[in-house]
Amino acid sequence: MPRLLILGRQGSGKGTQCVRLSEHYGVPHISTGDILREAVSAGTDFGLKAAKIMEAGDLVPDDVMLGIIRDRLAEPDARAGFLLDGFPRTSAQADGLAELLGSLGRALDLAVNIDVDTEVVVERMLARGRADDTEEAIRQRLNLYEEQTAPLLERYRDEGILVTVDGVGTEEEVFARLLATVDAHT
Ligand code: ADP
Repeated sequence: MPRLLILGRQGSGKGTQCVRLSEHYGVPHISTGDILREAVSAGTDFGLKAAKIMEAGDLVPDDVMLGIIRDRLAEPDARAGFLLDGFPRTSAQADGLAELLGSLGRALDLAVNIDVDTEVVVERMLARGRADDTEEAIRQRLNLYEEQTAPLLERYRDEGILVTVDGVGTEEEVFARLLATVDAHT
C-alpha cells in the first residue's frame, strides 16, 4: 500500500480526488483541514483557536500540526500506507514529517502535485461557497500557498519522488490520470 502525499492549490480538486484515491488504494485519507474542522465543530478550546486562524486564511502553527500528524500516523490503520492531504504546507512541516517518518523507519513513496492555474481555482472556490471561502481569505490562502507550499515541489523533485498531474478536466479524467501516474511510479 502506498505512502502518498498530495499537493495542489486550494480549489484544485485535491480533497475530492483524495477521497477516491484513498478508497482505491485502501489507505486512510489524512486531511489536516478535515481534522481541524472536526475540532472546530467539537467546540474545544483548540477548536476555537483554530477557527479564528482558518477564517483569516492563516496557517495553524507548525508544532501544532506536527503533533496532530504524529498522533494520526501512530494509529494502526496508517501503518501500511496513507494519503496525506493538506500536509505538509511549510518547509518546517516537511522537515518534521521527514524526521517523523525516519524515526518510524518509513518513507514516502510519492508526492503528487495536482496542477491547476490560480485563475481557475479562484473561480472554483468562489462557486463552492464554504464558510472560510470569502474572497479575502481565498487570496490569503493562495498567497500563502505560493510562498510556503509551492517551494515544497522543488524539495520533492530533488528527492526524486515528485510527479505532476494536470488537474484541469472532469473529476473522472483527473482521477484516471492520477491512477495511471501513481501506478506507474509505485
Ligand atoms: P484549503 O486547501 O482550501 O486551504 P484545507 O481544508 O486544506 O483547505 O485547510 C483549511 C484551513 O485549515 C487552512 O486554510 C489552514 O488555516 C488550516 N490548515 C489545514 N492544514 C494545515 C497545515 N498543514 N498547516 C497549517 N494550517 C493548516
